[in-house]
Amino acid sequence: MKVNGKHMLFDNFNEFKEWLLKTKFNRTIKVIQQHNTAEPSYNDFKGNNHFDLILGMERFHIHDREFEMIAQNITTFPDGKLSVNRPFDRSPAGIKGCNIYGICIENLGNFDKNKDSMTDIQKKLIVELTGLLCIKFKINVNTKGITYHHWWSEDGNLIYDKGDYKSCPGSNFFGGNSVENAKNIFYPLVNKWIKDYQHPVTPKNELEIAIEHLIKTKDIRSPEYWLENSKPNHIIKGSNMGQLFINISNKNNIKNAINYISTKVKLDKLFWIDKCMNNKDIDGSDACWLILQLYKIV
Ligand SMILES: [Zn+2]
Repeated sequence: MKVNGKHMLFDNFNEFKEWLLKTKFNRTIKVIQQHNTAEPSYNDFKGNNHFDLILGMERFHIHDREFEMIAQNITTFPDGKLSVNRPFDRSPAGIKGCNIYGICIENLGNFDKNKDSMTDIQKKLIVELTGLLCIKFKINVNTKGITYHHWWSEDGNLIYDKGDYKSCPGSNFFGGNSVENAKNIFYPLVNKWIKDYQHPVTPKNELEIAIEHLIKTKDIRSPEYWLENSKPNHIIKGSNMGQLFINISNKNNIKNAINYISTKVKLDKLFWIDKCMNNKDIDGSDACWLILQLYKIV
């Protein structure tokens, strides 16, 4: 985490999560506001100018808009980093009529149709961030708890799809800025994240299923089989298995793979476990343990 003035910049969601979960706040927060910055947009983001962009927005909010400080509590970036700006204990200047109990997220970019195409990592971040705020502040995933700037009139009334004062957070924000878009696309993603976070599937359970399946079917000889069975949501992460066997053996040869593992098993086990602990996207520990189990039963 880096600090510049009042602003904290977190390298990734996990770093922010640690900070958020251990920090106590004194303000009641009931509603999460979603915005896009529009200006600055992706054209202005250079990959290393997070603070420059934040300080630019801060200057604009203080000097041109005559706010006391930068408007938003949080800014998300196209590279998956995020920043805390206005302290959480201060109401944001995000949406007239919605600020007292609000928390304002500015997502850097212009997410109107035919403008910036949101990066996958920013999409993931916005879902995770919104989900974690819902948990932290006990906010429900519905139109009362997560609001779009677009749903508010200029004079501060909640009119949902009836107004066109602002397109913010963008007419293409997670498929669109209507209530229906939020209910059909954004909210289900947030709900799924919350569910997975609160009831994680542990690697051990996936492993047990995979091992049982392998013992039963004895389908351990063909990397192609596992690659074929690597379709999304397949119960066994076959792509990892298949790819790992191929990588290790280099010749689609399971015997070579097992021989290799039998000589280097400690190193590889620690390697994969370490990878898994530090990056949940890599489920290498599954592959490693599965190989260990296979080796015992082969
Ligand atoms: Zn807005």
